[in-house]
Amino acid sequence: MARSPSARKTASSRRDGNSRTTASSRSDGDGNHVHNEILLALPRAESEAVLPKLELVRLKLHQVLHEPGETLKSAYFCNSGMFSVLNVMPDGKSVEVGLIGKEGFSGTPLVAGFRTSHTRTVVQADATAFRVDADALRAALPKCPKLERQLNRYGQLLAVQVTQIAACNRLHEVNERLARWLLMTQDRVGSRDLPLTQDFLAQMLGTRRSSVTISAGTLQEAGLIAYTRGKVTILDRRSLERAACDCYVLLTRQVKEWESQDA
Ligand SMILES: [Zn+2]
Repeated sequence: MARSPSARKTASSRRDGNSRTTASSRSDGDGNHVHNEILLALPRAESEAVLPKLELVRLKLHQVLHEPGETLKSAYFCNSGMFSVLNVMPDGKSVEVGLIGKEGFSGTPLVAGFRTSHTRTVVQADATAFRVDADALRAALPKCPKLERQLNRYGQLLAVQVTQIAACNRLHEVNERLARWLLMTQDRVGSRDLPLTQDFLAQMLGTRRSSVTISAGTLQEAGLIAYTRGKVTILDRRSLERAACDCYVLLTRQVKEWESQDA
């Protein structure tokens, strides 16, 4: 079953399409601001080649962008909000294995020449993204070496996340994992208020709803978060970092180390 998102165009996204676009202007030809870090890093020539192929779309909470086994019709440069990457089992159970914010992109198999997704990508918070058709992306990559390199690098960063979160899900306690997840989410969403239900959070962490309730209660009693129905507010980021497992620091450190090697 096709699950292409019912994204709608923004009011300003239908214009003549002839406007010049540059990364340095940090907006596309329709005046939509670019926040995605992969797009912002492109040189002018590539930016001018790529941005006209993109369409800014608004995505709703829990909207599915990609399903396992389905053909990737589009890819998404996350521009605000966050996507979750889920591994889905045949019985329908799923667990989060990656998070994508404005540093990232959903559709990495396309960069390697593959046409289907192995994972489900779900919108985690109201988000915007620059969508590109799979064929348009494939056609653009040979002419845009910096974009191809950026996307390959991002694929590696996502793989690091996946391996770390796989270990985290097996080895670390729910309290620590919840704190780690909240930190990673705040980094991507850029807000201390995170829209969350306990059911969804339990699905993300691969645990029971009752465990999430207890863990959220513990963090709330310690004054680290405020939890109301459907929303978590981070009150004490520094203490939340102390409450998280090592995975948050390890991931942050790995990203910095690779960035320092990028000559
Ligand atoms: Zn962990």
